[in-house]
Amino acid sequence: MITSSSRHLRSSYDVVVVGGGPAGLEAAVAAQAAGAAKILVVDREAEAGGILLQCIHSGFGLHRFGETLTGPEYAQRALMQTLEHDIDVVTDAYVLDIDERRRVKLLTTTDGVSLLDTRAVVLAMGARERTRAAVRIPGTRPAGVFTAGLAQRLINLYGLLPGTRAVILGSGDIGLIMARRLMLEDIEVAGVFELMPHANGLNRNIVQCLQDFDIPLHLSTTIVEIHGNHRVNQVTVAPVDASFRPLLDQAWQITCDTVLVSIGLIPENELSQQMRLRLDPVTRGPLVTSTMECTRDGVFACGNVVHIHDIVDFVSAEATLAGYSAGQYVAGALPRADNVRLQPGKNVAYCVPHTISTEREHIVYLRTRRQLGACTLRLVGPSEQVVYARKLRYVFPAEMVNLKLRPAILQQFHGDRLRIDVVASEAAVDEDLGEEEVLI
Ligand SMILES: Cc1cc2nc3c(=O)[nH]c(=O)nc-3n(C[C@H](O)[C@H](O)[C@H](O)COP(=O)(O)OP(=O)(O)OC[C@H]3O[C@@H](n4cnc5c(N)ncnc54)[C@H](O)[C@@H]3O)c2cc1C
Repeated sequence: MITSSSRHLRSSYDVVVVGGGPAGLEAAVAAQAAGAAKILVVDREAEAGGILLQCIHSGFGLHRFGETLTGPEYAQRALMQTLEHDIDVVTDAYVLDIDERRRVKLLTTTDGVSLLDTRAVVLAMGARERTRAAVRIPGTRPAGVFTAGLAQRLINLYGLLPGTRAVILGSGDIGLIMARRLMLEDIEVAGVFELMPHANGLNRNIVQCLQDFDIPLHLSTTIVEIHGNHRVNQVTVAPVDASFRPLLDQAWQITCDTVLVSIGLIPENELSQQMRLRLDPVTRGPLVTSTMECTRDGVFACGNVVHIHDIVDFVSAEATLAGYSAGQYVAGALPRADNVRLQPGKNVAYCVPHTISTEREHIVYLRTRRQLGACTLRLVGPSEQVVYARKLRYVFPAEMVNLKLRPAILQQFHGDRLRIDVVASEAAVDEDLGEEEVLI
């Protein structure tokens, strides 16, 4: 695999991209398409490609490349494309800080600390996993408790098996994929335990990773204690009531030597906080405009650092916008400022971007709070006027809703705030909307 370009670092760039995952690589190419000439992608790992390098399962790229690829195949394509465009990629390098004048403080194994001048920055640092400490599971602190992504890294990149009998906490996609991966490596999976009354991963992963391998999924159930001195030897699990309180009188024990926690990802925003960017308390990523610009001029963001995406294809689409905008910023051609603030309304946890313009087309990504069957997505103006409504067959918190807003819809609207609601509807959906059902 090609890992990086061999060129020496320059002292100044038009655009510096922090993070060489799929978001960063795509953003760099788009920045060049918009007119930026000198572009640098920085990644702290030995190889660019981000989290995809450890995702050796297939299921990437159906939207972007029209075929199903493995994670490393997708990463390789993204990296090849970047290098073909004569973009500098430096690995084993860490961005320590970006100051008020957008000077990037970079730490590399070869040059130590350098200060690079840049005209625009794209933040694409991805996300990290929540650990056992985030949910405070009681019990001892033995070896054998891993985040699902760490276990994936150990098996797929280093050929190390984490144990022989595992329990998985959380039904996010990484946990589901790892349940199958463990079975394929002959590690018994006693079950996947999910606190919520519904699974948190994509439906295709529930079917392909659990049902096809007869791995039991226990909803509304959690681990209440981890046992073992040097190594995990048992967990206690219990069902929970509607307020998520464990029903300890119904608890039972499971013998295992491995516990994988798959309890969500957190956008990697230490750098954003250091730069004093405003963050959305729900996504924990930066607030962004419709050009993916953050609350500081010339600083753009995309990918999992903004909000957690279900599939990499959407990351690439968002990164193209962020990178293109950074290139336009450098060329002094960034579209005019937004004039509408988007507000998550009933049953909407968040929406990204946070502001839009009535003059352009936008893709808005949102997640609902609750699962609903036939329901209606409504755009509601400040005086409660419904500007637009569309019926959906279902919504599900684990599946991001992509909403295309055309100027034709937005021009009917006058005001500075547009609320998005997703509410249950009595009426059945009037047509078979198929795959496009969530795309307005
Ligand atoms: C286990 C797992 C399974 C998945 N399975 C699928 C699937 O089947 N299909 C699918 O379509 N999607 C899947 N996804 C989702 C997809 O992989 C992610 O959405 C995508 O990789 C996010 O891209 P990103 O570039 O935002 O972040 P990442 O891929 O996380 O890349 C971020 C990069 O930034 C670097 N970085 C961070 N901070 C710094 C710094 N300060 N300086 C330098 N570098 C830095 C990191 O080292 C990393 O390389 C999966 C994700 C995971 C975690």
